[in-house]
Amino acid sequence: MESRTRRQMLRVAAGGAVGAAIGLPALRFTAARAQPASGVATLPLGDTLHLVTVGGTNVVAQTGPGGVVLVDGASGANSQSLLDAVAALPASGPVHTLFNTHWHPEQTGSNERLTASGATIIAQENTRLWLATDITYPWDGQRFEPLPDAAQPNLTFYDEGELDSGVRYGYLRHSAHTDGDLYVHFPDENVLAVGGAASGAGWPLVDWWTGGWIGGIVGTMELLLDITDAGTRIVPAHGTVLTRADLESQYTMYNTIYERLAGLLNSGRGPDEAVAARPTQEFDAQMGPSEEFVRRAFESLWAYLSPDA
Ligand SMILES: [Zn+2]
Repeated sequence: MESRTRRQMLRVAAGGAVGAAIGLPALRFTAARAQPASGVATLPLGDTLHLVTVGGTNVVAQTGPGGVVLVDGASGANSQSLLDAVAALPASGPVHTLFNTHWHPEQTGSNERLTASGATIIAQENTRLWLATDITYPWDGQRFEPLPDAAQPNLTFYDEGELDSGVRYGYLRHSAHTDGDLYVHFPDENVLAVGGAASGAGWPLVDWWTGGWIGGIVGTMELLLDITDAGTRIVPAHGTVLTRADLESQYTMYNTIYERLAGLLNSGRGPDEAVAARPTQEFDAQMGPSEEFVRRAFESLWAYLSPDA
């Protein structure tokens, strides 16, 4: 039933932009800010809203009289640098709420420290389940141990929710990056934090082992276009802040690639042949080397489009 729902979504997602690859607007989301792995950069998004980039991972911080809301917590190695930078923001205070946009270590490395100081950690329920699971990636053997109980999200949700301050959050249900992706919307500044569901730094990791897939990227782009307007600033987990026009370009690009990969799968091809077919070729100059992205994106179709899925 679940895969049927996803297939129905895909038919909708795949219907829109056939042949639209010609005349693509310039893809400006490829120019990630260059900075050292341990560097910290802050950028104001409003009077009380800031982008703090630590070790290449974006964190959104909202200050207020009641304390600080963070969207993502950087890696464990960068947690102290992040919290020092947050403490130095104007009108800062203790962190009372932390969102985990998904389970990856670059988002959840401050969980233990912040639960110890009494913070609420909000995540979609699937993210909590992954954080309680021993995970080994099949493609490179990388292993992720479960977080200690004390570091787990302590407030999970399925669909959506709202803080007392009016900040809204919701589930990005199409599984672009993982099957626990969430967004957080700050209405006063019209800033939407989306974690790994979009990228401002070239090709994304398609983590199909924990639910992400290329069709989910297409579906998520559609959903994000529904909930943004021309003035919305979209903050991805990595790279530059995006506009709605950037999302439109990304939607067209990923839909084109999705259709090519699905065609290759349907004609019996494998990952090596998908890479050899260069399904991203007109985008590579701006997005960067694509072999790993193509391989993971193709493999991600197995879980969702294979006849026995
Ligand atoms: Zn991630």
